[in-house]
Amino acid sequence: MTQTASVLADPGADGRFGAFGGRYVPEALIPACRSLEREFRSAWSDSAFREHLTRTLAVYAGRPTPVTPAARLSAELGVTVLLKREDLAHTGSHKINNVLGQALLAQRRGCTTLLAETGAGQHGVATATVGALLGLDVTVFMGAKDVERQALNVFRMELLGAKVVPVTSGSQTLADATSEAFRHWVGQSETAHYCIGSVMGPHPYPWMVREFQRVIGEEARGQCAQLLPAGIPDVVVACVGGGSNAAGTFAGFVGTSARLVGVEAAGGASIGNGSPGILHGFESYLLQNDDGQVLEAHSVSAGLDYPGVGPEHAHLADSGRATYVSADDDEVLAAMVKLARTEGILGALESCHAVAWVLRAAGTDELPTSSTVLVTLSGRGDKDAAQVRELLK
Ligand SMILES: *Cc1c(COP(=O)(O)O)cnc(C)c1O
Repeated sequence: MTQTASVLADPGADGRFGAFGGRYVPEALIPACRSLEREFRSAWSDSAFREHLTRTLAVYAGRPTPVTPAARLSAELGVTVLLKREDLAHTGSHKINNVLGQALLAQRRGCTTLLAETGAGQHGVATATVGALLGLDVTVFMGAKDVERQALNVFRMELLGAKVVPVTSGSQTLADATSEAFRHWVGQSETAHYCIGSVMGPHPYPWMVREFQRVIGEEARGQCAQLLPAGIPDVVVACVGGGSNAAGTFAGFVGTSARLVGVEAAGGASIGNGSPGILHGFESYLLQNDDGQVLEAHSVSAGLDYPGVGPEHAHLADSGRATYVSADDDEVLAAMVKLARTEGILGALESCHAVAWVLRAAGTDELPTSSTVLVTLSGRGDKDAAQVRELLK
């Protein structure tokens, strides 16, 4: 495929992935984005920085995470299922890979503060965690409604020493928290780093976050080489909210023959049901009405509840190198129960979107009997136990 060379590569100075991406921010933020891009380029080509990050991921975050052959599930489905276990990383998901990378970069630039936005609280908790590790101040912006709904995560962040700022403008949710974080960054970009939680936002974020998550795919590629007779799986699948765990996973396999499949939430399928538009500094597929008004996403999993998707996924979809599908809430709940009972693993509801696709596709042309599939299990499901208990009643 001729597109392969141009996908999951360096997007260059304009930060575009085909027709998507870019840097749509107020004039006042352009210097901060440019400076961050320069610093990231310099750090990413500095072997001392790379080694420091790799070492910290190993001794603090528990990397490499294993690839687990899902033996009983495989026998039941007639396909070989391998699970990349990001649920076993510190704080229980892949988010730590990105936050640690950005925080070490912030420290290298002499920043003393991390700013972050969070919806359900997972990215806020990861940022508060790494801030405590490195002795950086952390301020987390959170919609006032989310502060109320996610009281336990607010407490976790505070316990870790972070300041949580409730945002009372607009719909008082993630989109407003994001706008507020940008506003604060404009005022203090010399001393504060804005730590974005997925492959979204203005250039260089989508590219930088994908590079920090690349470790998932690169580890998995090596592990598959050990575990599979063919060396690479036939299909690689991951869930897609903003798209960081999927982008990191795909980056390790884009140069192989593996089919790449991203699974969105049916109620938040930006690629499946959206159209091109601009939100929070980048151009991508968005859920919006005919007037360009952004619509709310709805899903059982808070981590997939975002009306947009990372611009590189929009490009991967258009180029045909990756395929995007969706899973609905019922399938996801069933997949969570199935994974728990066959493998003894409570997967996050987000991650169970990828598992749900495997259950649906196994034995069809999508995933024929005897084929092999690598599933990125982006996080652990303990956080979802109370919610699942209610849903299964
Ligand atoms: C945040 C989160 C996601 C969604 O984020 P991506 O950027 O799409 O990876 C998926 N799974 C888990 C466990 C999460 O915490």
